[in-house]
Amino acid sequence: MDTPGWVDTHCHLDDPAYDEDRDAVVLRAERAGVRRVVVPGVDPASWDRARRCRDRFPGLVRLAFGLHPWALRGLDAAAWSRAIDALPGALGDGALAVGECGLDGRIAREGGPSLEEQAKVLSAQLDVAQAFGLPVILHAVRAHGALLSLLKARGVPVPGALHSYSGPAELLPELVRLGLYVSFGGQVTNPKATKVHKAVRLTPAARLLVESDGPDQPPFPRVSARSEPADVARLAGVMAELRGSGWEDPAAALFGSALSA
Ligand SMILES: [Zn+2]
Repeated sequence: MDTPGWVDTHCHLDDPAYDEDRDAVVLRAERAGVRRVVVPGVDPASWDRARRCRDRFPGLVRLAFGLHPWALRGLDAAAWSRAIDALPGALGDGALAVGECGLDGRIAREGGPSLEEQAKVLSAQLDVAQAFGLPVILHAVRAHGALLSLLKARGVPVPGALHSYSGPAELLPELVRLGLYVSFGGQVTNPKATKVHKAVRLTPAARLLVESDGPDQPPFPRVSARSEPADVARLAGVMAELRGSGWEDPAAALFGSALSA
């Protein structure tokens, strides 16, 4: 029988930031009790890199494929449409979710694709996820209200994970009702991230996930320029402290999630 262990529900282990020492990163993860790492591809080039990670660490890595809003910055409409067309074929290679996809209000304000353009690409991916019966891995930055409206307008549940949640705690009940899990990374260790701490407290225990968001969220105090899967055990401990109680067996909760199936 499997022993419980941690799931890092979001790590870009394919990222070049790990090229120098990926084997050592994985060894540290395994020593820290991490049993699964979900690697969400963000564009077709990263889908290939993610597959190579899975082939090197087949017991550990689980794949998802999607088109991240940041990836749209370098693509015209024809190119992203081709990527969406390629998505069903990619998913056939053992993917457990569609993503990473979502809405990013910051890049929209900084001259990147507008939220309307991002919403079109996201909706196309939600359609694929629904057709395949797969959960989604969602990215939302300064666009949580828009994301919630888009998801609600579909009129069907949207199972999946909202990663690195930074939105208002007030939206959590509706997001959870839609079928989403809510995931938190290194920001939980930031003493100033009071909004994130509140969201950690108010997410139902059965819908709470932990992630490294590697390499992007080095925990505080900053001893490394990047985060990595081994961090999730400590992050989960911080989340349990923030909650006071009620998350005594996080590994079981994580393994019960749609993403670790
Ligand atoms: Zn990501």
